Amino acid sequence: MMMHTENHLYLLFLALMILGNPGLSVASDPVNSHLDRDPARLLSEYVQIPSVSGSEKEAGEFLMQFCLEHGLHVRVFTDDPDSYNFAASLYPLEMGKPNIVLMTHIDVVPAGDPEGWTYPPFSGTIADGMVWGRGAIDNKALGVMQVLALLQFVDMAAEEDLPYNVSLLAVSGEETGGDMGARIITNRFLDELNPAVVYGEGGAGITGLVSTRPETPVFGVGVAQKRRMFLAIESTVASSGHGSIPRERYPTKEVVKATAALLDATPTITISPTVREGLLALSKYETGIRQRIMRRIDFYGPLFGSFIRNDPLIASMLTNTISLTSLSSAEGAYNQIPTHARAVFDCRLLPETDENRFLDHIRRIVAPYDVTIEVIQSSPAAPVSEQGHYYRAMEESIHSVFDDAIVVPFMFVAINDNRFFRRKGIPAYGLLPAIMPEELMESIHYFDERFPIDALHKGIDVYVSLIDYLLNNPDYKKN
Ligand SMILES: [Zn+2]
Repeated sequence: MMMHTENHLYLLFLALMILGNPGLSVASDPVNSHLDRDPARLLSEYVQIPSVSGSEKEAGEFLMQFCLEHGLHVRVFTDDPDSYNFAASLYPLEMGKPNIVLMTHIDVVPAGDPEGWTYPPFSGTIADGMVWGRGAIDNKALGVMQVLALLQFVDMAAEEDLPYNVSLLAVSGEETGGDMGARIITNRFLDELNPAVVYGEGGAGITGLVSTRPETPVFGVGVAQKRRMFLAIESTVASSGHGSIPRERYPTKEVVKATAALLDATPTITISPTVREGLLALSKYETGIRQRIMRRIDFYGPLFGSFIRNDPLIASMLTNTISLTSLSSAEGAYNQIPTHARAVFDCRLLPETDENRFLDHIRRIVAPYDVTIEVIQSSPAAPVSEQGHYYRAMEESIHSVFDDAIVVPFMFVAINDNRFFRRKGIPAYGLLPAIMPEELMESIHYFDERFPIDALHKGIDVYVSLIDYLLNNPDYKKN
């Protein structure tokens, strides 16, 4: 019984975590296809312009030009090579309309060894019904869906005074923490952009999660995310310098012992409200013990303590995690005891974890050792976006295209740009509206990243439906 349950729980959490051949190249000629609205060709051309974080401008200008040529109002916020950020909107931003913002990031992670790829990583090859190349999924597919959906409202916006503006917001630097993109937008241009809501990257549709209906896709809409804290422990405890007569305490030993204590500490299992709500929503489609567990995860979760803690993916959803990412000491001769040692940890905190209480917990664990603790960097808490009007709009839109789909809220364990907007009190929802088989999920940030053309069309339909829904159901108050 447990094996079965665990297997599905594993899949569930794997799904909730993300977010995350051969053929003939028929990539189009970029020179004369700017006016082409064909989704696959647009994605292919966009992928062909490498935009590894730090060099977004060329790809950004390509997308900006495309928007301009199709009648959108473009505002370039910053146009540095490593920080190209623009909005392309139905109405000029100066009109000050409440804005539905569709956010995508221009930058991609490096391609890695080209030998690992079936097609060259920036070829944008179209083969086997897919567009291949770095960024094809993350995040250029989303940008193409959003922009092509937006274009379908250009004529309407010219004829009518619509209740909202709708903007594509294309930003730089998401993969390196958002400082060159979303942070700049939220710090300097938020009033001008005037977002009522932001739809950005996050979850996706996954099948195989519901035991009674394995083909049914489950779409996880990101409403929350964990916070990141970089922490260092250091020791400079005075000791004799010669390795032949070791003292009870010396820096490398203290840091290693404190590190071991931190890594061995049993993390507390915490069921975040978002996780609870997601499981509750899914439980409707389950029966028996699975349904009971999902409905009463607060009760059952801790009973599965060792299972949860031993599964990295599930642990990342239900505990504050600590990873040792650097360990160093002053290096001298091998018979010399170093005067200084340091360890750095990447800690990820659940949204409801209080930073000071977490630090107290760390302090208690390392108390027996002669070390000091330093917070190197800590991302402030971002509120959870509620499942109100704008969430339901996304839910409706998914159902209009994937009629049997199940839509659930979920918590993103990594960080993405949505947090910058949530921190400013703007609801932000994360979703790539596509059914993503495991092998495509695995290609994100890896070799052979590729996105199905058919999924591109469906994603555009979801976004068209979303914009249409919001324009027909304006609601400035309920959310
Ligand atoms: Zn991304």
